[in-house]
Amino acid sequence: MIRPFTCIVCPNGCEITAEYEPGREEISVKGAGCPRGNEYVRQELIEPRRTIASSVRLLHGELPLVSVRLDKPVRREMIPAVMEEIQKQQLEAPVQIGDVVIANVLDSGSNVIITKNVARAD
Ligand code: SF4
Repeated sequence: MIRPFTCIVCPNGCEITAEYEPGREEISVKGAGCPRGNEYVRQELIEPRRTIASSVRLLHGELPLVSVRLDKPVRREMIPAVMEEIQKQQLEAPVQIGDVVIANVLDSGSNVIITKNVARAD
């Protein structure tokens, strides 16, 4: 089986081809500009992971919402449940970049963190 990938690890976006037999561990990878591309393709085939960015409601802030993101990618199938957890949150201003909104969200090993400083409105 042959499957093409575009590596998203760095801006070079190498076009990588993986050749493998389903159920077998051996994977032949061609086109990666560096070893990180090989790792990316193996991870995608074995257990795809994604990171997400979203926003959380903010009370008494200069803005009504504040942007957040995961600090590590999580298994792709967890994304809807993680989004649901993020949407349940409501924070009180002020908030700062790097503040942890949810530690180890859904036991994923990833934290939801703030990505923008927002001061209190009053
Ligand atoms: S394979 Fe290496 S050089 Fe190519 S996009 Fe991925 S990380 Fe960048």
